Amino acid sequence: MPIIEIITIGTELLLGDIQDTNTRFLTRSLRDHGVDIYRTMMIGDNPARITLAVQEALGRSDVVLTTGGLGPTVDDPTRQAVADALAVPLEYHPELWEQIILRFKRYGRSPSENNRRQAYVPQGAKIIPNPVGTAPSFICETPDGKSVISLPGVPREMEYLYQNEVLPYLQSRFELNSTLQTCVLHAASIGESRVDELIADLETLSNPTVGLLAHPGQTDIRVAAKAATREDALALIAPVVADIRSRLGQAIFGQDDETLEAITANVIKESGFTCAILEAGLGGQLISLLARTAGAPIRSDIRSTLDSPAILTSEVARFKEITGSQMALGVNLQPGQSQQNLTLHLVTPHGVYEDNRSYGGPPEYGPMWAARSGLDFIRTHIKKEREN
Ligand code: ATP
Repeated sequence: MPIIEIITIGTELLLGDIQDTNTRFLTRSLRDHGVDIYRTMMIGDNPARITLAVQEALGRSDVVLTTGGLGPTVDDPTRQAVADALAVPLEYHPELWEQIILRFKRYGRSPSENNRRQAYVPQGAKIIPNPVGTAPSFICETPDGKSVISLPGVPREMEYLYQNEVLPYLQSRFELNSTLQTCVLHAASIGESRVDELIADLETLSNPTVGLLAHPGQTDIRVAAKAATREDALALIAPVVADIRSRLGQAIFGQDDETLEAITANVIKESGFTCAILEAGLGGQLISLLARTAGAPIRSDIRSTLDSPAILTSEVARFKEITGSQMALGVNLQPGQSQQNLTLHLVTPHGVYEDNRSYGGPPEYGPMWAARSGLDFIRTHIKKEREN
């Protein structure tokens, strides 16, 4: 199984002017084909630094995949930098120049002399034809069996060439015959450290691997397995997912693409009730999360912002009456000394539930934490009522 490193090239990436989506695309696809990615790197349009980065990456990995810097201007240094890394000169390919002229002709234009730069690739490179753009890409193989693959930066072009040329190349060269499959479980109303305590032994497994990712008010548990086929990988994942579900119980609200707001909206719908929601101090986050889910049976009101007084329990009951709802949730987030304090108040036809919680994480995440806590408060209480 080859080890691959990805280098994304572009000063605009380093400056944060554009987001690096190429790495995400490549890592996800390569992972699905069972390839090990040990490292990714982002580097500006600086030839000397790119040369060094490629050389270092070649020292550790079998394949170095670069994106970007293949355009026609002096700011596009990848061709020269890769040639320097491999200690070979650039070589002119008249057939590439012909292709560039033809492509421009299709748009009724002619290439500038600058574009001729794109007809040069490192000596000995295999040229990857680019029917979707003007930047020719290439694969260089080193005498010790390693490869440097350079693709354009424009995501649409890069993805096309990767799918149609690079992946088949990697598959034939390295007999890629394994796949990595994942299942992500989502838990709410339970902190990352508590989840960690409950499944610590599973986090030391090697196949599948189990990892945690914390969000405000939600903890994700990612189970990933590598195997020869998708079915084999899923068979490795299934018992571990079942084990985690039984250890965390009700705290798990969904998996993969399921969201807490969609699950909660569904629980409300299934109950047959309508729900009034009164929130204060969350900047409207809970209500807007629910509003995004189609047809959620809610009536809502945002009372106040962070510095306003808390909602009173009596107000929740009154809002329920005014809106003609069968249920009402009041959610209050108020700033405290070193933490934010949350009060949850839920009225259903079968009971009244209250809880006070506090949040000591970054203040800007407080409203999202409170919104998810409110959603989960509804979800868990309605489910419990249904089970009783
Ligand atoms: P071209 O000749 O088509 O410009 P190129 O290989 O020279 O191809 P760059 O000039 O490096 O590509 O990048 C062109 C554009 O592609 C950037 O301005 C940016 O919008 C996008 N791009 C480049 N790299 C990335 C990346 N890693 N993730 C997302 N977008 C990117």
